[in-house]
Amino acid sequence: MPDVLYFNGRFTTTDERVLGVEDRGFQFGDACYEVFKFLGRSPTFLAEHYRRLDEGLHVLEIANPWPDAQSFRATMRELLDRTAFDDGIVYIQVSRGESERAHFWPDGIAPTAIAYSRSFKFPDAAKKERGIRVITAPDRRWKQCDVKSVNLLANAMAKKKAQRAGADESLLIEDGTVREGASSSFFAIIDGRIITHPLDEHILPGVVRDRVIDLAIAAKVRVDERPLREAELFTLGEAFITSTTQGVMPVVELDGRIIGNSRRGEITGELQRRFDELERASQ
Ligand code: PLP
Repeated sequence: MPDVLYFNGRFTTTDERVLGVEDRGFQFGDACYEVFKFLGRSPTFLAEHYRRLDEGLHVLEIANPWPDAQSFRATMRELLDRTAFDDGIVYIQVSRGESERAHFWPDGIAPTAIAYSRSFKFPDAAKKERGIRVITAPDRRWKQCDVKSVNLLANAMAKKKAQRAGADESLLIEDGTVREGASSSFFAIIDGRIITHPLDEHILPGVVRDRVIDLAIAAKVRVDERPLREAELFTLGEAFITSTTQGVMPVVELDGRIIGNSRRGEITGELQRRFDELERASQ
C-alpha cells in the first residue's frame, strides 16, 4: 500500500513520482532531512526535530519551507491525520530545489519539501533487554556532521560493514576517538559514569541524546561530555546507543568482546525506562 506523501504544499501518495531528475538533493546530496516517531498518531519531540531541521537548513543556506514551528506542526498534523496506521515514523527531506545541473545554485531557488509516514517495527521489550552488537569502523563522513544532511554514503557503508559482521551498528572512530554510531549516538559507562562525545561538528546533536543526558543527571548519574578514546572501549562497564527509532538500546558486544555480562546494564535499563516514559509524555 502506498504511504501518504506531503510534497511542496499538497498531499499525494508515494505512488506518485514527484521529484525531478535535476533536483539538487538527488544530484548533489544538497538537502537536509529529519525523522520523527509517532505513537497513536501523535508526534514525539516534534519541536526538537523542527529546531534541528531549521538550524541545518540555515547552515546550508536553504530556505526553510516551514518558516515557523506552527506551520511545520500543522503540516505534520495533517499528514498523520491522513495516515492509515497509528505508530510509525515520518521522514522529512528538504532539498535546495531543482535547477539545471551546476555546482553554483541560482539565487532565490525554491526548496523541494517532502514528508511521508512509514509504519515501523520499534524494538519490543525482549529486544530492548537483549541489546545489540556493534563493531568499530573508520569515520569517513564529511566534516560537518552536526548538520543532518542527506550525505549518508559513509554511514551506509559503515552500517553494511556491521551487518556483514553479524552486528547492528558501527561505532565511527576518528583520530583514536569514538565519535558516534553510523545512525545513533553512543554512550559509554565506565565506573558508574556516563561518557559521551561533546556537541561539536563531529557528531549529530541527537534528539534522544539530549533527553537522555538530562534524565541521567536527574537520576544522579554523572555525565562527562568528552571524547572517548578508542582504548577506553576495553574498559566499558555498560554501553548503549540512542536514536529516534531505537530509543535507548543496550550494547552487549563490541568487536566480538562481551560488555558487562552480555546483558543490559543497570544504569542502561533505568535510563531506558525513564526515556520510554518521557517519550510517551512528550506527545
Ligand atoms: N547520529 C547519527 C549519525 C544519526 O544518523 C542519528 C539518527 O539518525 C543519531 C545520531 C540519533 O539522533 P536522534 O536521537 O535525533 O534520532
